[in-house]
Amino acid sequence: MSQEEAKSQHPTPMLDQLESGPWPSFVTGLKRLRDNAGAAYAPMMNDLLGQLEHSYEERTGYWKGGTVSVVGYGGGVIPRFSEVGAKYPASKEFHTLRVQPPAGMHYDTDVLRQMCDVWEKYGSGLIAFHGQSGDIMFQGCSSENVQPAFDALNEMGFDLGGAGPALRTSMSCVGHARCELSCYDEVRAHREVINEFLDEMHRPALPYKFKFKFSGCGNDCVNAIHRADFAVIGTWRDDMKVNQDGVKAYVARVGRKYAIDSVIAMCPTRALSLNDDDTLDVDNKSCVRCMHCLNVMGGKALQPGDDRGATILVGGKRALKVGDLMGINLIPFFKLVTDEDYQNLVDLARRMMEFFADNALEHERIGETIDRIGLPAFLEAMEIEPDPNMVNHPRTSCYVRTDDFTDEAEKYFERKAREAGLDVAAD
Ligand code: SF4
Repeated sequence: MSQEEAKSQHPTPMLDQLESGPWPSFVTGLKRLRDNAGAAYAPMMNDLLGQLEHSYEERTGYWKGGTVSVVGYGGGVIPRFSEVGAKYPASKEFHTLRVQPPAGMHYDTDVLRQMCDVWEKYGSGLIAFHGQSGDIMFQGCSSENVQPAFDALNEMGFDLGGAGPALRTSMSCVGHARCELSCYDEVRAHREVINEFLDEMHRPALPYKFKFKFSGCGNDCVNAIHRADFAVIGTWRDDMKVNQDGVKAYVARVGRKYAIDSVIAMCPTRALSLNDDDTLDVDNKSCVRCMHCLNVMGGKALQPGDDRGATILVGGKRALKVGDLMGINLIPFFKLVTDEDYQNLVDLARRMMEFFADNALEHERIGETIDRIGLPAFLEAMEIEPDPNMVNHPRTSCYVRTDDFTDEAEKYFERKAREAGLDVAAD
């Protein structure tokens, strides 16, 4: 950096303090971009740091929204105009392009380099992998560069994500490509559902945001249960697979005490017991698929069963009208194996989106709609029969009211028997 450049830098004493802690600081990252001498975006990052310092001094945010978009799209760009642009002209427009990540977030280094090249040419060089919605956040773009930046990213095969009252960008965990706990094809479910409703993403027309998220197992690596309006979380319904040689090897490696303390005793439903010969018994009817034992003992000892699919939960969200909500267990087990199964998932998603578009109030998430109209009305609208397996919390609170439980349970088992072709009347 030349002396000239150093002199023109905004002083940032308050921001500097944020670099003093033990953790990596975003301020260091911004300064690195600012100090990249000769880079076209360096003045922009200098002014950005100046405005941020000014904001800290005044305890006021100086960004305001506006309307910026690309041809044919109604969303996907978050406009940011500075109210103190006269003082910090290089960063007076600092828009963000929300770009959908690939399902499972699989990139190769070539693609990442190309993205960096695009953003160093048209933007600030600042990219966040990934925002809260799962988008790749290309931050810091002038109004005139938004269209060419989008065109370049589009040329690479990427598309804008959602913003505003629309279907939002989706996320799926790394999934079966790398994880032995995966219970369905997350990448396929993600793309089939989102591709079906891309119009809803690019042309905001819903009452409010709507998010799909796909996790391959109960570890829920994309936090679907509390961040998605429609969460698809992998599970299985037969017995978990136990390799007793793997269990013995695990116990031999960590010792019996550790195995008992950190696996057997930690099972929330006491479904595990370790025999004297270091083999493991699993009470599969009691197991609630919390994933703890599988995580700790590893795939050589324990694996999900063969009858795999997903649980569908609806209504998870952060605070808004009625506070944070976890998703409600709508379909305890949704088989996801054949083409037809995946089509059924898309059909269910469509019914849900249509219900949301028709019935939600403005600025209301679907969890709040359910809270307002009640779960029975929602189930009726979705043509889903109440099921005793719809639980708020495993083994404790069933959504079917306790005094109705016996009736509902009987109806449920009759229905299941009918589906299985059994003659219940003969029993
Ligand atoms: Fe227990 Fe969870 Fe393992 Fe099931 S998955 S046996 S509930 S620790």
